[in-house]
Amino acid sequence: MASGSGITVVVRVRPLNEMENSRGDSADGVRCMGDRVVLAGQRQLTFDAAFGGPDQAQVFERTEMRALLDASLQGFAATVFAYGQTGSGKTYTMSGPEYGTELDASGAITSASEGIIPRAVRHLFAMLDSYTASRSGVSYAISASYLEIYNEQINDLLNTSSTGLPMRWHAAQGFFVEGLVVVDCETVDELMLVFQEGTKNRKVGSHLLNKDSSRSHSIMQVQVTSRELVALDDPAAGLAGAPGNDHTVETHGRLSFVDLAGSERLDQSGSIGRGARETAHINSSLLVLGKVISALSAAGESGRVGHVPYRDSKLTKLLADSLGGSSLAMMIGCVSPSSAALDESHNTLQYLSAAK
Ligand code: ADP
Ligand code: MG
Repeated sequence: MASGSGITVVVRVRPLNEMENSRGDSADGVRCMGDRVVLAGQRQLTFDAAFGGPDQAQVFERTEMRALLDASLQGFAATVFAYGQTGSGKTYTMSGPEYGTELDASGAITSASEGIIPRAVRHLFAMLDSYTASRSGVSYAISASYLEIYNEQINDLLNTSSTGLPMRWHAAQGFFVEGLVVVDCETVDELMLVFQEGTKNRKVGSHLLNKDSSRSHSIMQVQVTSRELVALDDPAAGLAGAPGNDHTVETHGRLSFVDLAGSERLDQSGSIGRGARETAHINSSLLVLGKVISALSAAGESGRVGHVPYRDSKLTKLLADSLGGSSLAMMIGCVSPSSAALDESHNTLQYLSAAK
């Protein structure tokens, strides 16, 4: 399904929201036809997949999510991005409806409305359990972190007093965030708790500190370490398992779930003062991300990697070793169907086309 660049690009068109409905907007602005997206009165664009409507399960099932999870278990990096203007459905797609909506009787988010991250968490552990059961000598260790980049500042979403964390570079690890909480997760519930805690803190933090969460990138990362005991001698010779003849092979995979800041333009959001600076930062890091992806996909076609401007934003530094090389990535572009949002939707689809 992935196009030549190794990055899969899919589009999701949400239903009209209440405000759009009450204004009487037409839902013909952007429509899906198979894997094509049709812009009113304009051209059609083809993506790896296109989805209309609220169905959360199909976005997980009909994209490469399983392949991405599998890659992480094999020791590769895999990343999912949600891109689009504020209100287009990025957080709904990645996480699910906001807390306080669509709750079941016990107060939990209904499973049908869960987004990609909680689905991935469950699938990851299911896959890991079945691999462990089917191959003796293999074990996995999972750990997770959750941060936001707000105004080019890194804040820990698992420890709200930890803000403005420094990013450092290490020869073996590449870029990393110093002092970030990393939680070891032995069970699916422990990883789910990391997701819920970080998601809650992102929301609460934006209220308390008067931050606009639409202006931050949030990144949940899951480290997947596999250890396999490998016999150095030919098992057929009957020496496998003999002490001293075994060694442990370790692989380090990583999953990154990135809910990007709103892609809307400065002139349309009408921001001034602090808001304008924030928007400038956001747009510049989205621009750098686009350049990094284009540089990598150009390399994919020609086989030569030119300059990739990883160092030009915190977001791309953090994801430097998760983009390019043998890593996998999927970008989900979110758009409103409304004819009133056509300009922004057009911008989003153009950005996505350039990423293909
Ligand atoms: P963003 O994160 O891009 O700012 P949200 O994910 O918060 O946007 O979505 C804005 C609103 O639209 C939320 O109320 C959300 O529940 C709703 N919504 C978004 N996408 C969908 C969808 N595919 N189906 C139904 N409702 C959606
Ligand atoms: Mg959001």
